[in-house]
Amino acid sequence: MPLKLDPPHDCALCPRLAAFLAGNRAAHPDWHNAPVPAFGPLDARLLIVGLAPGLKGANRTGRPFTGDYAGDLLYATLIKLGLAKGAYGQRPDDGLQLMGCRITNAVRCVPPENKPTPAEAKTCGQFLKGEIAAMPTLASLLVLGRISHEASLRALGLKPSAYAFGHAKIHVLPSGIRLIDSYHCSRYNTQTNRLTPAMFEEAVRAAAQN
Ligand code: SF4
Repeated sequence: MPLKLDPPHDCALCPRLAAFLAGNRAAHPDWHNAPVPAFGPLDARLLIVGLAPGLKGANRTGRPFTGDYAGDLLYATLIKLGLAKGAYGQRPDDGLQLMGCRITNAVRCVPPENKPTPAEAKTCGQFLKGEIAAMPTLASLLVLGRISHEASLRALGLKPSAYAFGHAKIHVLPSGIRLIDSYHCSRYNTQTNRLTPAMFEEAVRAAAQN
């Protein structure tokens, strides 16, 4: 079966997530409320893999990391390091352009309480696999959090147990592609000081050196 880059708008492969989306569609008909497609050029050398759309962020606006705190830190860092051009306006029509990087999520649909199950991450992995296969010049992946780390390794046909997750750790994979780990740039992680903006910048900078 050919690899698919994007799930259908009404993908129901994860029944729990499809039901959650249906409830959100009824409550907020003006929100995106569907799988969130990746953002950025396919000929980028860097792919940033987040966890899943935030309820009031990407699930509302339809663009990864757009509209909630995680996006404030991510896009500010990308602009600072020359990986994005323009101003981040917390909305998909802000004109922001990604430069040499693309952003997606390990799980394309918003999960309740930001927590996809392992089965949901495995099911949606087929689209991450398609995403990776569609990037001919891919050299590095920046993976945000352990679930994205594991999903990305699986999508590359590798065993997650062979590569321990650690913030700012650089794994050189057998294909030569580099996988760089970072704690997720969520509000929770920054409020608890698990991840500071400086720590995040260090990981993004390492990933950008490709
Ligand atoms: S998370 Fe992925 S596989 Fe699951 S329903 Fe959404 S798009 Fe489909």
